[in-house]
Parts: sequence; structure tokens; C-alpha cells
Amino acid sequence: VPVVLLIEDDARIRDALGRVLGDHGYAVRSATTGYAGLQEVNDDPPDVVVLDLGLPDVDGGEILRMIRSVSAVPIIVASARDEEAGMVSLLKAGADDYVVKPFSGELLSARIQAVLRRSAANVDAEILAVGALRIDTDSREAMLDGRGLDLSRREFDLLAYLAARAGKVITKRELLAEVWQQPYGGADKTVDVHLSWLRRKLGETASEPRYLRTSRGVGVRLVDPDGVDPSR
Ligand code: CA
Repeated sequence: VPVVLLIEDDARIRDALGRVLGDHGYAVRSATTGYAGLQEVNDDPPDVVVLDLGLPDVDGGEILRMIRSVSAVPIIVASARDEEAGMVSLLKAGADDYVVKPFSGELLSARIQAVLRRSAANVDAEILAVGALRIDTDSREAMLDGRGLDLSRREFDLLAYLAARAGKVITKRELLAEVWQQPYGGADKTVDVHLSWLRRKLGETASEPRYLRTSRGVGVRLVDPDGVDPSR
């Protein structure tokens, strides 16, 4: 059950929202001051925060910034303030959405559902990006310049391993241990052969490398060929 933390000093609003959100299947907790809310986010992180701006101890905008400095929890600002400039600055400060009071519990519930959906999508999709390469480790698909790459299982694992450590030189020993599961070493030749296959599929050659840079006797690293590379 998703946990919603209401940071709201008005007891009537707290009760009303608590009821509606409860009916929609959320577990609702509340804090009546800004600092109590911040503490709560820290101690027992909720799935989403609904934040009032007019709080008795400190402005909600300040609390938003403080929460953002310690947590990526989705935050929906709920306020009677409806000037556009204020909303824009709160969204820029890290609010995920903004609802203007008075609003219905139905609307808030729909907004909560939307931010939860977005944050779930962010967590699930493990997309590695290096230059024009996109590697989806969930679906095990790799694309270069928007075109799918036809990789073997090992080639995919090798590319994904290097992409997760882009820019860093990875030794063949490490690749053998981590990608081939041969911690006690094996034939470097195996790595070399797979690297050359992978290189061909990336449309490059050893003499004119782009993404795959080998350092003789050391290892290999994956780089963004159009990025700034301080070691070149
Ligand atoms: Ca208030």
C-alpha cells in the first residue's frame, strides 16, 4: 500500500484528505508542522509527500528544498497560492506537481497516482546511455543511433558491463571474472575475440575506434566518442 505523508497544519483539510485518500487505498500519515514533516521523511520515508505551503513554523517552500536535499521522494505541493511565478519556482525547486486549494480528494488522488506511476517507471527502467548508445538491461536491448543492435548474450553482457562503467578502463581479468564468471582467469583471447565482434557490430574498427577504446596491456573502456575525454 503506497504511503502518503500529508504535511498540513489545517486539521479539517487533514481529516478530509485522509478520509478520501484512505478510500482510494492509500495509507495516510500526517505531520502538522514543516520540521515534523521533514523529520518524518528522514526517519520513515513515505512514497509521496503532499505539502502545504502555509505552515506554522517554516514556509513550505523551504521545507520542499530541505526535503529535496535529502530525498528524491515525489512531492505534490497543495496550496491556496495560485500565482504562476510561485508555482514555477516550486516546480523548479523539485516539486513534482502542484494543486491549488480548494481541490477535491479525487483530483489529489489522481495526481498522486500519476507521480507514483512516474517514479515507478524511473526505478524499473535501467537504461544505460553512452553517447548515442542506449542499453536497456531489463529488456536486454541495445540501440545505437536509434537502431537495434543484434548482439549475442555475451556481447550484450560485455557491452552492458562496460557501459555501466563508461569512461573507466576495465581490465580483461575483471571482464573474465564478472562477465564470463571466470574469477581465476582464463584466456585473454576470449575477451579479445568478443571485443572485436562487438566492435564490428558497433560499426567501428580497432584502428579507428569510436566507443571501444583498448589500452594495450591494460584493458578496455567504453567512451562517448563525441564527449569530452580528458585522457585523450
Ligand atoms: Ca496551512
